[in-house]
Amino acid sequence: MKIAVYPGSFDPVTNGHLDIIVRARALFDRVIVAVAENPHKKPLFAVTERVEMLSSVLAGFPDVKVDAYSGLTVFYARKQGACAIIRGLRAISDFENEFVMALTNKKLAPEIETLFLMTEAKYSFISSSAVKEVAFYGGCLKDMVPPLVEAALRAKFSGSRENEG
Ligand code: ADP
Repeated sequence: MKIAVYPGSFDPVTNGHLDIIVRARALFDRVIVAVAENPHKKPLFAVTERVEMLSSVLAGFPDVKVDAYSGLTVFYARKQGACAIIRGLRAISDFENEFVMALTNKKLAPEIETLFLMTEAKYSFISSSAVKEVAFYGGCLKDMVPPLVEAALRAKFSGSRENEG
């Protein structure tokens, strides 16, 4: 049984993330989408909210499990019995950080490979931070996030926009 862990902030999940998950499903028996609890980041959505959104969106995929973790990704992946960590690549700008992270992870857990998957071009510009920015100013999120994520973003920002006047 080949298991892959796809770790990330998923704050919130976008159609770019989903495209990577669909691609990973074709390569592995089981994909664990793992929401990282990172004390250095200030997320918009709580870990439980991010897990709930992912679980709803991925409900039709029995081979995909959604989980949350803290600490080093390789330790989590090892505990899950994973042979690979999946990361998505959008542009060259993603590469430098990912390169360092993959080599560090390989040093810590040589038995786990990092696999980079590219998204379809139409999703390559999407990031969670851009999506939050668009939502904050009331822009259209069609084709960028699933409808339930769009609703959650609108709900999060409805108060702040009212305050803006
Ligand atoms: P992190 O904080 O770990 O980067 P993200 O949720 O931003 O968490 O991203 C998780 C992974 O998904 C990363 O490997 C990132 O490069 C990838 N990713 C995010 N958005 C896209 C996208 N539109 N296309 C391809 N990969 C993406």
